[in-house]
Formats: sequence, structure tokens, C-alpha cells
Amino acid sequence: MRIVHRTAALFSTFAVAAVTALSSASAQPGNGKEELPEVAVIGTGGTISGVSTDRVSFQNYQSGKLAISKMVDELRPEVDGLAKVTTEQFGNKGSGGYSIADYRKLTASVDAALKKSDAVVVTTGTDTMEEFAYWLDLTVRSDKPVVLTGSMRPWTVIGTDAPANLYNAIKLAASRKTKCYGTVVMLNDEVQAAREVRKTDALRMDTFTSGSSGRLGVIDQDNIRLNRAPARVESCGRSSWRTPFDLDRITKDGKALPKVEIAYSYQDAGGEAVKAFADSGADGIVTAGTGAGGISPAMSTARTEAVKKGVTFTSTTRTGSGAVYGSTSTTGVIGAEDLTPQKARLLLLLSLAATDDEKQIREWFATLGTAQFTEG
Ligand code: ASP
Repeated sequence: MRIVHRTAALFSTFAVAAVTALSSASAQPGNGKEELPEVAVIGTGGTISGVSTDRVSFQNYQSGKLAISKMVDELRPEVDGLAKVTTEQFGNKGSGGYSIADYRKLTASVDAALKKSDAVVVTTGTDTMEEFAYWLDLTVRSDKPVVLTGSMRPWTVIGTDAPANLYNAIKLAASRKTKCYGTVVMLNDEVQAAREVRKTDALRMDTFTSGSSGRLGVIDQDNIRLNRAPARVESCGRSSWRTPFDLDRITKDGKALPKVEIAYSYQDAGGEAVKAFADSGADGIVTAGTGAGGISPAMSTARTEAVKKGVTFTSTTRTGSGAVYGSTSTTGVIGAEDLTPQKARLLLLLSLAATDDEKQIREWFATLGTAQFTEG
């Protein structure tokens, strides 16, 4: 039985972060002792590779137009001093156009790149970047740095954030300071943890925040300042650093991943969405509930029926912060703690692929990615 002590866990997290930062300091490019690190940049599209109709069309543009090799080539004079940068075009479209099957392939591409390189940067659209990030955080096996970036303005407008974000993401990856952090997101000079980051504004350039958890750190030109580390650095170097979601193992024989959908609750919400998801073969359903996970009476009735058919539910809040805990939940309904509905969906999907033991899934929701401290 683990004893969880949050204050001690935080100190421990800071301590590991400090050690990580110190150990990577000796490998910084430019100190004359080390070879330049190898950074692989994998492009998937989004606004960062967008081409605008003119130089001031901040919001009228076609995303996913420029090749990642061309974008990196434009930055060669700057990035060649930081790292040996290679590129791979995984795809070139909006973030919302990717399927879970594509996500599986992306994990394989990232892990393959990390076998040869010291770090990976993935460029994606910002709309679902938080889902890309949490998926990779849960599935990539290597503990080398994975940095996601994108932009809110296309590459070709004045005042674009695209080249600066790509440059800073490569700089962060090349520093290797986020080894064992899992996947991080770097936009607007800010570094955020995959489990915590969310897009909070449709248009602003400072759209990514980590809510009450706060960002991990910042990039101030040549200074990468990390103030804290995600909880998983505590198990850096141990096999427990890896999540239970080894895709080669949990989806062997080409087995499809479970289907998990999201149903949103609101005043007098009907039960039709939940019923339709269950009838169409959903293995799991996430409810985005009011307050601490409340759902309407009709939705609740539909949920009870769906649970009887074997559908597993996780309960989340639509408020954007706070948590829904598991201890009060009935069988078949798991509290998603402080995960947003879209991230709870990914964790439930991977959990259902790995086990049908509800107790185990509850434990993953309660502990994965959160600070754990074992006394003694
Ligand atoms: N529609 C774009 C996407 O997510 C938005 C962006 O990249 O900012 O692909």
C-alpha cells in the first residue's frame, strides 16, 4: 500500500527536476565538449504549416500546406547551431483530421525516431494538440524528450508565432532538459505538461495554459527555465516510468482499440446520446458533467442501462477545472479525477485495451501522472 504525501512528493519532484537539469547541463550544445544532439522533427500539419491569402490574413489561411523540411530549412541558420536536425513528414493536415489509428502510428514513428535521435519535436495543429500530447505521454516508451509545438498564426503572416515556436521547440528538445518529463507542449515561450495543458481560447496566442497546476517553465531566449517537473520524473530510470500502455502488447494481433465517446450534460439533457453510443458499440463513454460530475436524470437512466450492457463510464466535469473522484462512484462509473473529458477519453480507451479489471482502471485514473510518494 502506497502512502501518498503530496507535500513530500512535490519536494521530491523538485529534487529530481534539479538533478535532471544539472545532468543535462553538461550535455548542452556550445560548451565545446559535446557533439551536437540529434533532434528529429516530425510534421503533422496545422496552422504552423499554414499559408495565408496575404501577409495580414491572420485567420484566413490554409493549414497543412508547407512541408516540415521546408520550414526547418528556413530556420537552418539558427537551428544548425543547436542540433543536428532531421525531418519526417508524418502527415500535413489539421489536427482534428487524425484518427486513433493514426495516433497509434504516430507513437510508433516517435519511438522509432527516438531510437536514433536524442529528442523529438512533433508539430501539430493546436485544436487537439492537448490530445496529441496526452496520447504520446501515455504511449511513447522512450523517456527521451518529446516536445509538441504549433502556432496560432500561419507561417506566412507578419507577426507570426510559427517560426519562433518551432525554433524554441527545437531548442528545448536539444537541451534535453525534459528527459523523463514525458511529452511537453511548447508554445508562446511556455512549457506545459501533457496531462495538464489545455487550449483555452480559440484565437489568442497565449491560448495554452495548465489551469491551476501552472506551466512547467519558460524559454527566455537562451535561458530555458523549468520551475517544476511533471510527477512522472520521480520514477526516471526505473521501469515504472513507463505507463502500462505498451501499444505493441495491448493491441497485439492487430486488435482494434476500444471505442470511447463523450456525452455532454446540461439542463434537462436527454438520454439519447448515451443510448445511441451504447447501441452503436461504444466500449466506454465519458460524461462531461455539471459541477463535480452531475448528469441529468434522463442521462443517468440511460447510463444505468448502458452499464448493464457492459459499457464503462468515466465521470468528468465540464467546468474546466476541479475533479470528480472515484470513491463515491457506482460500479461501471469511474471518477476521472482532474482530467478533462477529452483526456479522460484517451485514458479510458487505453485502459480498456489493457484490462477489463475495473479496480485496476480506477487505480490508473487515481494515480497515473499524479505525484506518489512512498515513505520509507
Ligand atoms: N485548425 C488548426 C488545427 O488544429 C488550428 C491550429 O493549428 O491552430 O489543425
